Amino acid sequence: MTKPDKFGHFDEFGGRYVPETLMTLLADLERVFVRLRKDAAFQREFRFYLQEYAGRPTNLYLAKRLSAQLKTLKVYLKREDLLHTGSHKINNTLGQILIAKRMGKTRIIAETGAGQHGVATATVAALFGLRCDIYMGAEDIERQSLNVYRMKLLGARVVPVTSGSKTLKDAMNEAIRDWVTNVANTFYVIGSVAGPHPYPVMVREFQSVIGQEAKRQFAQAEKRLPDYLLACVGGGSNSMGLFHAFFSDKNVKMIGVEAAGLGLDTLKHSAPLNRGTAGVLHGSKSDLLQDSDGQVRVAHSIAAGLDYPGVGPEHSYYKKIKRAEYVAVDDKEAIAGMKLLCKTEGIIPAMESSHAIGYLEKLAKRAKKNSTVIVCLSGRGDKDVQSIKDII
Ligand SMILES: *Cc1c(COP(=O)(O)O)cnc(C)c1O
Repeated sequence: MTKPDKFGHFDEFGGRYVPETLMTLLADLERVFVRLRKDAAFQREFRFYLQEYAGRPTNLYLAKRLSAQLKTLKVYLKREDLLHTGSHKINNTLGQILIAKRMGKTRIIAETGAGQHGVATATVAALFGLRCDIYMGAEDIERQSLNVYRMKLLGARVVPVTSGSKTLKDAMNEAIRDWVTNVANTFYVIGSVAGPHPYPVMVREFQSVIGQEAKRQFAQAEKRLPDYLLACVGGGSNSMGLFHAFFSDKNVKMIGVEAAGLGLDTLKHSAPLNRGTAGVLHGSKSDLLQDSDGQVRVAHSIAAGLDYPGVGPEHSYYKKIKRAEYVAVDDKEAIAGMKLLCKTEGIIPAMESSHAIGYLEKLAKRAKKNSTVIVCLSGRGDKDVQSIKDII
């Protein structure tokens, strides 16, 4: 497995499309990351916090009643929803803050859309006593007031961004601006397998614990490899986290589920791997929702965490070499998925994870009898109950 190459390329995707001033910074970060990924003391400390603070390993749970209903499919759920702060995001923020600490940084910044990455970042900043500023679009601040309150409670400052569409992509621009200005003491925590090299490979590395554990747990339960892996794709970190350990296991089919929003044939979706074209966003090249002038389009999904117009470059690569298949599930199908898991297993999944669940019935129709699937249950749904209570 040689990807990415030393320039951070996954074939033509990835790379480092940033202003000159950021180049030395990213080179520094890359050097530290390359050293620490092989550093036993660092790895020990990371494992310690994953286990003692976040709650790893997470269970691989056989969903019996759900499987019975689907008939052809035996479904195992990788329970990232059980982690501290309620999703897989804590795996990555713990990893990055430990790097920040080793680099001697005293201030953390991040951008957030729905607020989930902001909360996970504010959490680890509090844990290590570092100052934390979170950039968030003014529009998103209105829509996600509970998460704004959480971040403030955790001691972070939430900086409203009023430029452009006042959402995630504008918050990303502001965070990068801040980083360039304050690089001496500041570390930028990116929330998915996106951004300029080395972020995509670094975040993949921190999230790949999901697949490593799942592989071991599945082997213990079934004495073989699973037939399918299934996960939702926003920026792509929980899915890549699950997929990566199985890359060389050619018989394991990987399916990433994007958000089709109101439909793939409307402009209201978040499905760049299904409907995007290659372009540059947030410092790297990947599939992207953009208009004919190359202007980035505003994405839509009922799941705030999938509402992102780009996707991590490694997914564009997996799609190109056909290592993974990328499908899309719309808002209604995701709600049906959420209800299905609630009623069969007593688990309320996050709206994002509900997109993966929402694809299971279609997968059951195409799967051979006695097939097995691991679904990444990326987060819990408590945060979504308020916003969907009028729909259900
Ligand atoms: C943020 C989030 C996602 C989407 O991000 P990825 O990087 O694609 O994993 C999915 N599920 C949950 C619960 C999230 O919070």
